[in-house]
Amino acid sequence: MLHPPSTIAAIASPAGTGAIAIVRMSGNNSLGIADKILALPQNKTLKGQKTYTLHYGKILCHGRVLDEVVAAVFCAPHSYTGEDMVEIYCHGSVYIQQQILQTLIDNGAAMAQPGEFTMRAFLNKKIDLPQAEAVEALIASQTAEMHRIAMQQMRGGYSAQLKALREELLNFVSLVELELDFAEENVEFADRREMQELIGRITAVVEGLAGSFAEGSAIKQGTPVAIAGKPNAGKSTLFNALLNDECALVSPIAGTTRDAIDGTITIGGVLFRLIDTAGLRTPADHLEQMGIERSRQKIGQARIVLWLADCGDAADAIASDVLQFADEITSRSGKIILLLNKIDLMPDVSVKDKIKALQTLTGRGIEVISVSGKYGSGLQTLQECLVQMATQSRSEGYIVSNARHYQALVQCRHSLVCVRDALNGGLGGELIAFEARKAIDCISGIVGDITDADVLNNIFSRFCIGK
Ligand code: GDP
Repeated sequence: MLHPPSTIAAIASPAGTGAIAIVRMSGNNSLGIADKILALPQNKTLKGQKTYTLHYGKILCHGRVLDEVVAAVFCAPHSYTGEDMVEIYCHGSVYIQQQILQTLIDNGAAMAQPGEFTMRAFLNKKIDLPQAEAVEALIASQTAEMHRIAMQQMRGGYSAQLKALREELLNFVSLVELELDFAEENVEFADRREMQELIGRITAVVEGLAGSFAEGSAIKQGTPVAIAGKPNAGKSTLFNALLNDECALVSPIAGTTRDAIDGTITIGGVLFRLIDTAGLRTPADHLEQMGIERSRQKIGQARIVLWLADCGDAADAIASDVLQFADEITSRSGKIILLLNKIDLMPDVSVKDKIKALQTLTGRGIEVISVSGKYGSGLQTLQECLVQMATQSRSEGYIVSNARHYQALVQCRHSLVCVRDALNGGLGGELIAFEARKAIDCISGIVGDITDADVLNNIFSRFCIGK
């Protein structure tokens, strides 16, 4: 679908019935096609109207008035796509929306492909590729954090910085390639020391961006939080209480949760992915063993682990369990919160004594919070602690959350390391130029100097129709 000159149309508002719906068109004939189905007062036409103007009119369908609407006119290049555009705001009936779309198509418009409006905006240089991808991320954003990184990318994000570095790299490669043309004369146009310094600078930027991807994924998919502990500690009850749902089976029979289950929640604008795991104990059967292994894997991937203990157990036993568990996961970056559960079954003073007895754990980086999963006490403190832990290491700088960018950054870093090694080893210009070109291609792939129709179609086909 590489930039056909046709005029495209689609319903831009969500599927279903709303108060108002939007049907939009883009292309040279947008105004002309809209005029064929729209009767404006005093026989006016949309053609000839100024950009950014609104017009009341009646939609005519097979000679009958279908709806009273408002049409917005956007004249090229002052529109989202850079082409002439018309947006029709009609009443939100599914029937009306579809009839308007069909009538536009009957009058010469083509049905838009997914993402085609944004693809045209990109091809007409209204936005660059990362900005186009940010539009998709913006539409999908569910939390304040997801919105922040999408907006950052939309404003141009890191592409301007990458483009500038790519220009510098291109200059160097051109000089190295020039040297190759004069191979017999053994000249050096590109100052190797300056080139090393540049490669160092680009590598630092690329590494920083690639390194932020873990953060970006946590923001997009939710910071993974595993709920772990012995059977019957109250994991499923807590899981359900946090999610405000009845996803996990709660039972006094130990070993009921045999597999890990997921659910997402937003707390204070931060998305979390909660994972309820099978109780860690010596398995009673093969099925439980498989569940426990799966739980260990999930716990390994979690950024935060909530270790649940029954506050009725002795402080020594609780401390030794959580420390043994902490030793198991120390090689990973997960943080641990020890939750003393079922405090409703104990007098306040005993709970306080137990917390005091467990204070030494804070020296091991383990937070201790008392809760009752069943009655909800302590859950607010727990939620505040989760938000604080998830956001304390958030970078203020650019965060990469797009998997395509991340892959290109990793490849770019690999080529830059090869260039650096070649420079350090005093190796020939061919290898330096070859790897530097590869790094340049990776950067070009991110900032969007892509003309390959398949690649572009692949990127834009993930958008919804009408965007
Ligand atoms: P899991 O095996 O760790 O998932 O534990 P469950 O959530 O299935 O709970 C085991 C039992 O403990 C059930 O009978 C729950 O009702 C009970 N339970 C869980 N949390 C609490 C709590 O905060 N207070 C009390 N009194 N009982 C709880």
